[in-house]
Amino acid sequence: MIAHTPTIFASVAWVALIMAFCLLVVGRFNQRDGLLTAGAGLLAHALAYVCFMYYGHAPMWLTYSVPNTLLAVALAFYSASIFRINQQAVPWLPVFGPPIILGLLMILLMDTSEPRRLAASGVLMVQCLLLILWAQNNQQPDGRAHLLLIGGAVASLIGILIRVIAIVTGLSDEMRYDISNLRQSISVSIGTVTVMMLSLGLVLLSKERIEGVLKHMALRDPLTDLPNRRAVMEQMDSEIERARRNGSTLAVAIIDIDHFKNINDVYGHLAGDAVLKHCATLMKQRLRQSDGLGRYGGEEFLLLLPETSREGAAIALDDLRAHVANTPTKFGDLNIPQHFSVGVWCGIPSTQDCGTTLLGKADTALYQAKHAGRNTLKLAEDITISALV
Ligand code: GH3
Ligand code: MG
Ligand code: MG
Repeated sequence: MIAHTPTIFASVAWVALIMAFCLLVVGRFNQRDGLLTAGAGLLAHALAYVCFMYYGHAPMWLTYSVPNTLLAVALAFYSASIFRINQQAVPWLPVFGPPIILGLLMILLMDTSEPRRLAASGVLMVQCLLLILWAQNNQQPDGRAHLLLIGGAVASLIGILIRVIAIVTGLSDEMRYDISNLRQSISVSIGTVTVMMLSLGLVLLSKERIEGVLKHMALRDPLTDLPNRRAVMEQMDSEIERARRNGSTLAVAIIDIDHFKNINDVYGHLAGDAVLKHCATLMKQRLRQSDGLGRYGGEEFLLLLPETSREGAAIALDDLRAHVANTPTKFGDLNIPQHFSVGVWCGIPSTQDCGTTLLGKADTALYQAKHAGRNTLKLAEDITISALV
């Protein structure tokens, strides 16, 4: 269907203007920098289409050079939003270099026809490709919003490509902004698709980012940056299930720093916090990728060693114990020594076993380790031990 080209420009401008208003209001009140930047992009997009509307009725610089530069500015703002939403530094040169180059080219090539059109299309296409790259590189884990951004940029690329093909095949005049034909209708109305997909994509990217941050906060211990109790317990449930299904051994260890209250009393709570962080770092250094370590409580850590035999668990945990005991915490000028006791259950979980029962067994072993003088390891006695490999 052939539509009146200036009318399509007007409708794209309206869509962009309404979206800009929404994002600027939300971004302003929620203090979300990424959305404010996206709103600025939409505003530039809307202004560009208003200028295009007057093509043939106002000077060329106002209806061609300015709006194409504004489109480049809009794409630059959309790209900058991706970085801002992810709270990363915006690479200003590749983001805002293209609109400056396009503006200069428009001044230099003002009196030409094809070169001016090809230059504008070329710069905008490079920007779309960069936007695709940045959207791809900044996707959220398990996120989908970047697909909308890529879709919007691809739609824009197609719209520009239609113009480029017309120009290089000698149909340049058919693509004048005041002429209505099918190719023009398709190329210009793609602007609506771009505006909708990019603005929705940026809003959803911001949402996914915040959900990711909240999830991180809900499952991480802020002091040690280890998984918190909830996260490590969930991991334990799935490891128990996996070990039971595969008939493989699992070690569940509770690690408790010895006389930690004394450390707080002698050196202060900040020093105590430093000891906790230091112990977490030391343990992480020594563990395998598949092992799970979390902060279970105050000065207690829960460690999961999948597919580990009783002997293997004893060797690994004693190595961990010695490493922590031999590496004091540096706190200012002080070297604060620390060590821990550890209780371990190891075996193939039976159908009766669950997180609570295994933790209970590991805890009993820990109690024995404390009674045996601390800085030591005790394995829980269990009938499943006989089934170990
Ligand atoms: P034991 O050898 O028997 O384990 O003795 P302990 O002193 O380590 O154990 P106790 O349970 O008596 O003391 C643990 C202390 O850990 C008490 C609590 O104030 C402190 N604590 C818990 N969480 C934190 C924390 O996040 N930071 C600091 N600095 N201290 C903490
Ligand atoms: Mg304790
Ligand atoms: Mg303790």
